[in-house]
Amino acid sequence: MLPFRYARAATVDQAIAAGAAPNTVFLAGGTELLNWLRLGVAAPARLVDITRLDDLARIEPLPDGGLRIGALAALSDVARHERVVGDYPVLHQAILKAASPQLRNLATIGGNPLQHTRCPYYRSAEPLPCNKRAPGSGCSARYGLNDRHAIFGWTDDCVATQPSDPAVAFAALDAVFSTERATGGRRIPATELHPLPAAPWPHHVLEPGELITAIELPPPVPRSAYVKVRERASYEYATVSAAVAIELDGATIRWARIALGSVAHRPWRLIATERALAGLDPGNARAVRRSLDESFVEARPLAYNGHKIPLAKAAAFRAIELALRTP
Ligand code: SF4
Repeated sequence: MLPFRYARAATVDQAIAAGAAPNTVFLAGGTELLNWLRLGVAAPARLVDITRLDDLARIEPLPDGGLRIGALAALSDVARHERVVGDYPVLHQAILKAASPQLRNLATIGGNPLQHTRCPYYRSAEPLPCNKRAPGSGCSARYGLNDRHAIFGWTDDCVATQPSDPAVAFAALDAVFSTERATGGRRIPATELHPLPAAPWPHHVLEPGELITAIELPPPVPRSAYVKVRERASYEYATVSAAVAIELDGATIRWARIALGSVAHRPWRLIATERALAGLDPGNARAVRRSLDESFVEARPLAYNGHKIPLAKAAAFRAIELALRTP
């Protein structure tokens, strides 16, 4: 770990001013940042501690019936908030399937979606070809061990996946990230927080010094669910996951939003499936499965991850079933 300077911000304005200095990162929960420092995948010159910005930890209703979740709210606090439990089960479930209870007490809801990929070549203690670590060095995973890598949206230069569970729920909810930066705040749809792989290989679209202040959820989506397939039941990243939000119109589906996790560089929305599900009788299992097939026409498995296709379809189907069971 290389030396760095440390500063603590007492206000958001102070944080933004301090964050504008070159090679500065914000310290919130620190659960992922510490990994980056330890592995050498990040070597910031300065950390700006934002843990005392209590205003950014509030969870409060929005005028339209939605919910504004402060970016510094701990994952565990968000998961047990009564509005999240009752109105956004997909987020409640996604958080409880993320990390361990100890980590959830410390990690923040704004920091979790900014995790870097779990690609083992990216996180290797030995320097290996990895465009994300060393642009232009190549991609060890493309023709290496790629069982945990992407099946959608990859390029020959990077086949990494995004590992955050809450990010998948946010994508299915059409949540919006609010940010502040020196040039002014902006709103970023959850589906656009993570880019597809391309030079200079960013993990997210935030600019240097840009701070997520809150995540805004739409009016309640009680028919929603999250399914995570993983190699062991506790403390494991997803092999694949599926987040589903559905609204019914009598006996048919008015709209459905489905996002898959750990299949691409961003939470991957199944747009073709969402279109096919609109107006469908949700009890018609064969038609629901056919609608899922439509989105997988564009799936491109790598040498060792073809299993992700049936797993992801099954996870999405199960999440649809669970969402529809919500009263
Ligand atoms: Fe690096 Fe991406 Fe290739 Fe992994 S998949 S080795 S992160 S370039």
